[in-house]
Amino acid sequence: MKTKKLFIFIILLWLLLITASFLWNYINAKNEQRNIAFQTARSFFDLIEITRLWNARHGGVYVPITKKTLPNPYLHVPMRDIRVNANLTLTKINPAYMTRQISEIAKKYNGVQFHITSLKPIRPQNKPSAREKQFLKEFEQGIKEKGMFIQKGGKIYFFYMAPLITRKACLKCHAKQGYKEGDIRGGISVTVPFVMNIPFLPLLIGHIFIALIGIVGIIVARKKLDQAYDTIRKQVVIDTLTGIPNRRSFLETLSKEFERSYRNKEPLSVIMCDIDNFKMYNDTYGHIKGDMCLQKVAQAIKASLKRPTDFCARYGGEEFVVILPNTPLDGAIHVAERIRSNVEKMKILNKNSLPAGIITLSLGVASSEGLTPFKPETIIKNADTALYKAKEKGRNQVQSFKEVT
Ligand code: GH3
Ligand code: MG
Ligand code: MG
Repeated sequence: MKTKKLFIFIILLWLLLITASFLWNYINAKNEQRNIAFQTARSFFDLIEITRLWNARHGGVYVPITKKTLPNPYLHVPMRDIRVNANLTLTKINPAYMTRQISEIAKKYNGVQFHITSLKPIRPQNKPSAREKQFLKEFEQGIKEKGMFIQKGGKIYFFYMAPLITRKACLKCHAKQGYKEGDIRGGISVTVPFVMNIPFLPLLIGHIFIALIGIVGIIVARKKLDQAYDTIRKQVVIDTLTGIPNRRSFLETLSKEFERSYRNKEPLSVIMCDIDNFKMYNDTYGHIKGDMCLQKVAQAIKASLKRPTDFCARYGGEEFVVILPNTPLDGAIHVAERIRSNVEKMKILNKNSLPAGIITLSLGVASSEGLTPFKPETIIKNADTALYKAKEKGRNQVQSFKEVT
């Protein structure tokens, strides 16, 4: 139960870590996307500004008048148009007109749109949009640039805007509007098509994959850990030589069964078993054979118990102990006799142990009926006393505590 809670906690912690990592990566990608969008739009803006400056420094440039390039009606300067000959008339292109023409080319070429605008436009089409108007006001407060993602016709664009600062070259035309060098005369907005997709799906799938691998790892680790726990738990309660419960397990079981029998007002009996002349067996056949004999006797005792609640353990050395819940003394004597007989029937040679010449058991039986003081230790002590009596009376026999007192 405890490991289950820990297991759930670790899984939740893992999922929390993966979610945090996902959010962190997603936020970073978003920032990256914004930075790249800003840099791209800023580059376009800088380039157009440099080009405008080049134009302004020349006081405008002349180009042939064509259907697409008609004279600028908002440019009121002397010699706006120059007739070279019958076939060629030139017209002056100022920075604003040039920006418009470049914008048209750029829009067709790579979808980038420029819009030159001002709070006091000379050309009515240069009137700012609501967003541009808002940004122009912010520029007057000292903000250097603005940028944001916008949706247009179902597509995402990055909208960038920066102010147009009046330079010396600009005053040739704009001084009459009252501008001084350094004044904000307006701005140019740059609308860039979406520049970088956030790899949302690969990021999500990658994180789900890592999360799953982690969960599988945690499950496998938990299985291994549970197996290790089981082994340790068994090692704590099982006797390694005989494979039956050990003395510690016996004491715990006796304590539990004793209380239960008391609550249910049921009798409980204990049988103490001791192999006769086992020292002699070891001396005759060696310790390895002695160990094998202990294993056989343990299995014979275990096999002699019929009820699922009957319990046997190795008490120590060549001594074994049996707990028989809900069993009165005569019933326990019956079981003890069965054990004795089953061990005898195995006919394990112990040639120097006379008179039997085989491995036999002496057994002492005690019951909780009339037990004083009424404690588990008393029943062990009584069974031991009965066992001592069985040894005294010649071994290979069952004695009960009641009979000896
Ligand atoms: P008794 O009939 O009076 O019980 O005589 P006994 O020789 O069985 O009793 P004793 O207490 O003198 O000797 C017990 C022997 O059990 C001592 C030891 O050689 C043997 N023994 C105890 N534990 C083990 C064990 O784990 N393996 C082996 N091979 N022998 C053990
Ligand atoms: Mg002994
Ligand atoms: Mg013995």
